[in-house]
Amino acid sequence: MAPSFFKEKLDDLAQKGLYRTLRTTTSDQDATLTVNGRELINFSSNNYLGIANHPALKEASIKAIGRYGAGSGASRLITGSMTLHDELESAIATFKGTEAALVFNSGYLANTGVISCLVGEGDFIFSDELNHASIIDGCRLNKAKVMVYRHNDLSHLEELLKNHSRSTIHHPRFLIATDTVFSMDGDLCPLPDIMKLAEKYDALVYVDEAHGTGVFGKNGRGVVEHYGISSAHPLLIQMGTLGKALGSFGAYVCGSRDLINYLINKARTFIFSTSLPPSVLAASQAAINLLQSDASMTQKLWENVRYFKKEAVSPIIPVLVGDAQKTMELSQKLFEKGIWAQGIRPPTVAEGSSRIRFTVMATHTKEQLDLCLKALKDLGL
Ligand code: PMP
Repeated sequence: MAPSFFKEKLDDLAQKGLYRTLRTTTSDQDATLTVNGRELINFSSNNYLGIANHPALKEASIKAIGRYGAGSGASRLITGSMTLHDELESAIATFKGTEAALVFNSGYLANTGVISCLVGEGDFIFSDELNHASIIDGCRLNKAKVMVYRHNDLSHLEELLKNHSRSTIHHPRFLIATDTVFSMDGDLCPLPDIMKLAEKYDALVYVDEAHGTGVFGKNGRGVVEHYGISSAHPLLIQMGTLGKALGSFGAYVCGSRDLINYLINKARTFIFSTSLPPSVLAASQAAINLLQSDASMTQKLWENVRYFKKEAVSPIIPVLVGDAQKTMELSQKLFEKGIWAQGIRPPTVAEGSSRIRFTVMATHTKEQLDLCLKALKDLGL
């Protein structure tokens, strides 16, 4: 490989307006962030409830380190399965109303590990075209044939299901995979209708509640709860993350005991990776307790979302720009006005659909929301 390879690739990205760099914060994670000594209002975080720096989470982490130390020392199937893992998993199963739950080291690892083993060669996965990269990668790791359906287009999904229905001698298995809240658009999947199709065509449904958990549903259990779908539905497999609204880190998958035992035996990202450390597990547990005992955080979040944009359906509010370079320029202009709103470009979104993605938090003040709305108006957005 020529030594100039990296530089050439980077120059090419820069020319297309797709070059990415890191911006380091020196503050804790809340409605404001400090960068290079400057305070900015944070409109780019998934810490929707603003609890990543909550005293209850910090205290639980510190206590867990004092009792159990810093690391778990091994993967779960070796010596890395600690009381804290068991406690967190049973808390998640109770919270979600499922028989069992399993903790993964991140949402990315949950999606890649679980989707890659739920079905196999000769089977079919039906995946929404706007699904998160980790679902796409999970599909890539599976030997099943992947059929991508147009975003939230149920007639397209049904057409694909029908075309591959089990009239063949092989009796393939079907898996439908979808985000419940689409991460770059903020819209919801039509889950009740997806469940109807799943019943009609006998397909498993794998839902990614990364942006639903702690945000949707009367008890913050996610979009499944929001739509009144039973967590005990035999075709439903739920995944969610602990590093967004729950302010900690990691992910969970929940469903039947058999499903969880299957994943313990089959999901390679679970089997072959050192398990989550005590501090993280304890913070997640504290976040679930907090969510169950204090509904005011979710109420405040929704109040802020509606104040920011009346017709918004989730705390994720994209402003479409189109061109990647222009998007980054506008994001930079907002930054100069004291607002951190991330520009999103390919490959995260499709060519020509670059956007600025605003995320509203429960801990934003009205004044902060007003400042952002004014900045948007000033920039003609
Ligand atoms: N699924 C979705 C829909 C996401 O938005 C993300 C994170 N951006 C993930 C999965 C991955 O989760 P994690 O950050 O915990 O790896």
